[in-house]
Amino acid sequence: VVAIEVEADIGARILPRGFGLDDALFEHDGQITKREIRALTLSSLAPRRGELLWDIGAGSGSIGIEWLLADPSMKAIAIEAHPDRAARIRRNAGAFGVPGLILVEGEAPAALKNLPQPDAIFIGGGGSEGGVLDAAIAALKPGGRLVANAVTLEMEAVLIAAQARLGGSLLRIDVSRAAPIGTMTGWKPAMPVTQWTWIK
Ligand code: SAH
Repeated sequence: VVAIEVEADIGARILPRGFGLDDALFEHDGQITKREIRALTLSSLAPRRGELLWDIGAGSGSIGIEWLLADPSMKAIAIEAHPDRAARIRRNAGAFGVPGLILVEGEAPAALKNLPQPDAIFIGGGGSEGGVLDAAIAALKPGGRLVANAVTLEMEAVLIAAQARLGGSLLRIDVSRAAPIGTMTGWKPAMPVTQWTWIK
């Protein structure tokens, strides 16, 4: 208790262990994989010691950052097309003390060329654009995990087709948080997410 008080006094952030850090710990513009969905996504990505993740459409960088926080041996590359978000990923990586996060500012699939072969890939954006999923599938190490999340019907259609073609599992995640309705409280649903997980 004493140690925590001392750290709190200097404004240190005390991070819990386990996946699904509070969204508010990340600087973001709304484009962030929300806490509960992030926890399930990291669980599906199943990080193992020393592995390399590609976080495609990295947004705030939250997935790659939590991957790196799992263990000091972890490696991650964040690929992000939007320049403001790329700058934000850098700031978040600094704030979380994972400066080893490699940032590739550019558009997938072109930006994926010549990157080191990953053990796991997360697709959080750009997956409905031509060639991103195929490039990810081709690049992944045999035995590696690919996890892709869809919030749009277009991306969901891509994932349903991929599962029909290659197998793997589909998961639908519906999360609701309690929020005020007038003087009472009700469930406020987040957009449902369809997740495809596939082992190469
Ligand atoms: N997982 C992220 C949120 C992703 S939002 C987080 O937790 O913060 C989707 C992101 O994909 C957006 O930032 C968008 O700019 C990016 N994006 C969309 N198409 C892309 C492409 N073809 N290449 C790289 N990034 C892309």
